[in-house]
Amino acid sequence: MNDRVSGIILKETDYREHDVIITVLTAEYGKISFTVNGARKMSSRNASSVLPYTMAEFEFDYKPGKTIFRLKRARTLKLYRRLHEELQLSSAASVLIGAADALTLSGDEDDAREEKTQLLEKALDLLADGEDADFVMACYMAEMMELFGVGAEVDACVHCGRPEAVVFSPEEGGFLCHECAGNAERMTKEELMRLRRIVRGGITHYKEVKESVVPSPQDAWLLTDMLVRHTGIRLAAYTLYRKLNRYA
Ligand SMILES: [Zn+2]
Repeated sequence: MNDRVSGIILKETDYREHDVIITVLTAEYGKISFTVNGARKMSSRNASSVLPYTMAEFEFDYKPGKTIFRLKRARTLKLYRRLHEELQLSSAASVLIGAADALTLSGDEDDAREEKTQLLEKALDLLADGEDADFVMACYMAEMMELFGVGAEVDACVHCGRPEAVVFSPEEGGFLCHECAGNAERMTKEELMRLRRIVRGGITHYKEVKESVVPSPQDAWLLTDMLVRHTGIRLAAYTLYRKLNRYA
């Protein structure tokens, strides 16, 4: 049959002596896996086309209902070279990819597979283009939460609905008003406005959001913290990312 699909390689795991299994996020089929025969052999044609954190086109025989296939051929579409060469960027990419992997169901069970694939591709494009990694992360996390159905409330107090805010709470999932915020340390108007714009615009409107605010690493921290709390996923890559950037 020879079906073709393009996708982003999320991870690679060893499988038998010279083989690997790669997990790929695709707009068409969702999250699927391929067994790659001989990928660990230097002579393998496919070895260089199945690197994690790259985008490639895969040739295989699709069968409905299955989520693992034998790879026939792969061809790299986007290598994202900088993400493989610079430690901080590769650490940022692994945070985004870790979140995408953990928040996507296998195969066509995920109704938002097309959006999730586009979102990840755009975020990796921006990182590879040298955009501010914290800002890309903040926009990505905000939009992923929307897609996952746990979007941040940035229009009114998440507790009482009053249209005012003095703090953004990752635990509560959005803004809190003066009364509901209790003793929490107040945030500035500018910090609150920035979060509102990031959440409303996401990665999809990255350029417009970036033009309207001055980025701060705080946004990535608050929104990633919220995503982890509200989706229940583990995101070990983020701890490493913060250490590398000396935030923690
Ligand atoms: Zn309130």
